[in-house]
Amino acid sequence: MTATRPTTVSSAGPLLAGRTAVVTGAASGIGLAIARTLSSHGAAVVVADLDGAAAALAADDITESGGTATAVEVDVTDERRVQTMVDHAVETYGGLHVLVNNAGITRDASLPKMSLDQFRAVVDVHLQGAWLGTRAAAAAMREGGGGSIVMISSTSGKTGVFGQTNYSAAKAGMVGLAKAAAREVARHAIRVNVVQPGLVRTPMTEALTPEVWRQKVSEVPLGRAGEPAEIADAVLFLASDLSSYVTGTVLEVHGGRSM
Ligand code: NAP
Repeated sequence: MTATRPTTVSSAGPLLAGRTAVVTGAASGIGLAIARTLSSHGAAVVVADLDGAAAALAADDITESGGTATAVEVDVTDERRVQTMVDHAVETYGGLHVLVNNAGITRDASLPKMSLDQFRAVVDVHLQGAWLGTRAAAAAMREGGGGSIVMISSTSGKTGVFGQTNYSAAKAGMVGLAKAAAREVARHAIRVNVVQPGLVRTPMTEALTPEVWRQKVSEVPLGRAGEPAEIADAVLFLASDLSSYVTGTVLEVHGGRSM
């Protein structure tokens, strides 16, 4: 199949009308904002998260706001559960058009103090999880005639961060994964791109002390942390036909912090 420019690209309707999106780690923080934004632009959304109850609440919230959403409890490191997540999207909504590999954890420690378990846990969720999701989603998208896969990496994967040898390695790995996958699936009209957020206030970053938070904010040329919704808007661009000729790229959303 040749990837042609979608005819809907300039239409005035919702950007994702008739599309189905799966967002992992969508019960909280950036993932929740992505699920809400994609829904508000017309997508039916599968809210997928380790915390099934929180995912159900998020899906209910989207539905009460007039959107279409269901929840799936998933551990993105589990091959079978990831396949079930993708199957759920296809069976419930008739296809899969967007996957956002967003689920994430941190297990920070300096190199001498980091255990192998801490290293593996982070690499498994971010990198293995994104690979499993990408493989399963690409197969479903191929059947449906195309789609868009978005990785939520981090500027930590670009610059490296002290105490995050696990996280920085996993987040950099997601870039290589995206670029290799983008080459493989382009002929099926599937695009694969990466968003690298900078500092964003979410449950993940609430663990930072006020002093560390202030220090990090002081490094941001725009003078503030990002909002989850601002990351979601970048994902919306990559998920929709606005980016129909964009694949294998990294979109940095960090207020200028890691230029
Ligand atoms: P968050 O609020 O902690 O959200 C992460 C979500 O992922 C949580 O709902 C979490 O569920 C879920 N999750 C964790 N492990 C999972 C697994 N194995 N399977 C399925 N879901 C799982 O963090 P966030 O800040 O929104 O982070 C979202 C993404 O953005 C992550 O990939 C993160 O690395 C990236 N990011 C964040 C920042 C930032 O400043 N916040 C910056 C750059 C990149 P539980 O709560 O049940 O664990």
